[in-house]
Amino acid sequence: MTSIDEKLQPILASVIRRNAGEAEFHQAVQGVLESLGLVVAKHPHYLDQALIERICEPERQIIFRIPWVDDAGHVQINRGFRVQFNSALGPYKGGMRFHPSVNVGIIKFLGFAQTFKNALTGLPIGGGKGGSDFDPKGRSEGEIMRFCQSLMTELHRHLGEYTDVPAGDVGVGGREIGYMFGQFKRLTNRYEAGVFTGKALAYGGSRARTEATGYGNTYFVRAMLETRGSSFDGRKVVVSGSGNVAIYTIEKVQSFGGKVIACSDSSGYVVDESGIDLALIKEIKDVRRGRIGEYAKARGAGAHFVPAGKGSVWDVPCDVAMPSATQNELSGKDAATLVKNGVIAVGEGANMPSTPEAIRLFQEARVLFGPGKAANAGGVATSALEMQQNASRDSWTFEQTEERLATIMRNIHDTCAATADEYGAPGNYVLGANIAGFVRVAEAMQMLGVI
Ligand code: GLU
Repeated sequence: MTSIDEKLQPILASVIRRNAGEAEFHQAVQGVLESLGLVVAKHPHYLDQALIERICEPERQIIFRIPWVDDAGHVQINRGFRVQFNSALGPYKGGMRFHPSVNVGIIKFLGFAQTFKNALTGLPIGGGKGGSDFDPKGRSEGEIMRFCQSLMTELHRHLGEYTDVPAGDVGVGGREIGYMFGQFKRLTNRYEAGVFTGKALAYGGSRARTEATGYGNTYFVRAMLETRGSSFDGRKVVVSGSGNVAIYTIEKVQSFGGKVIACSDSSGYVVDESGIDLALIKEIKDVRRGRIGEYAKARGAGAHFVPAGKGSVWDVPCDVAMPSATQNELSGKDAATLVKNGVIAVGEGANMPSTPEAIRLFQEARVLFGPGKAANAGGVATSALEMQQNASRDSWTFEQTEERLATIMRNIHDTCAATADEYGAPGNYVLGANIAGFVRVAEAMQMLGVI
């Protein structure tokens, strides 16, 4: 990885000063600034320091109290966030995350990355992110619903199909989006379908939205492999996580002839050398909302479970690694193990799952590396397609929607590759994604005046 151009260092210093203690946000900004030195050298007009600094400062940050009553009748308090990061290209767009680790720094890093990711899709969407430190694990249906309703009682005033359009993320799927949209509709007395994406088909959702992030990452990795005359066919693949992104990554990889041999959750990971049985994973995770260890129990001798703390899913030798769980889940040590075991490609299904050290090791070893803001953009791109369908009161077929997704992923891949070539770093998708995303946002902001 490159270091930060000295002209850009004051920007990082001011981000760190202004957002003290928000390590993930600093990491995300640093990653983008490291790529911008080349832009600054080639196009000095982009070195409007104030412009870059404005791009690093969210337009608006909303932090609020979420009081709700649990099943035992006790009042619980959580904290809610919505960071409206950048609206130069369109309404703020990005998911809601429910996880105990959520704090303002995490939401800021996600909103920052989302801004460039959304720009890379080529669609008219700005960047935002939200969520809460609420832990949905072990909560009843009623508790989840009351929590979502209370959250929306405050958040609704900040949303709108032309203002800010949330979706799901970790801990937020179709069920939670239904409760939040239902409460929004009730409070505003407007059927504004385009104010949320990731909705169920029954009330204005898009076909292929659930599958889109995992499918999109698989399309992206396929395109990277093709640049080396390779494919998924017969490849051993490890996918971390077992949520929505992981499940549909596994599905698409299998349809491309790859063999997924391991996946995980926060309790540990399972290895099944004969290939993960996806129907069983879906049953455990989507229906039973159970733990991944149940997979090994159900499969008997064919599979084994390794509990968290007793090793990493990245210890499992594979050709392709697709981290699809959470930020910083793949360390430098994990990357060294993967490289030693001969990994040829990594596609990030999660947001910022690889640490800076891990990325450096992959790049030094010439491993094809697709950063999240490019590789996992299929989810939000299909959200934009959902907004298009809502705006035109239309509903597309699965095939039509997936075809658009495949074309968008191909374009993102080619844009990143061409940008990396243009800046003298062929095959460096990190650089290509950061620069192409930044330039699109920066150009629009320059035209909009000092706002
Ligand atoms: N949470 C997803 C992401 O990180 C999707 C966001 C959306 O569809 O708005 O990109």
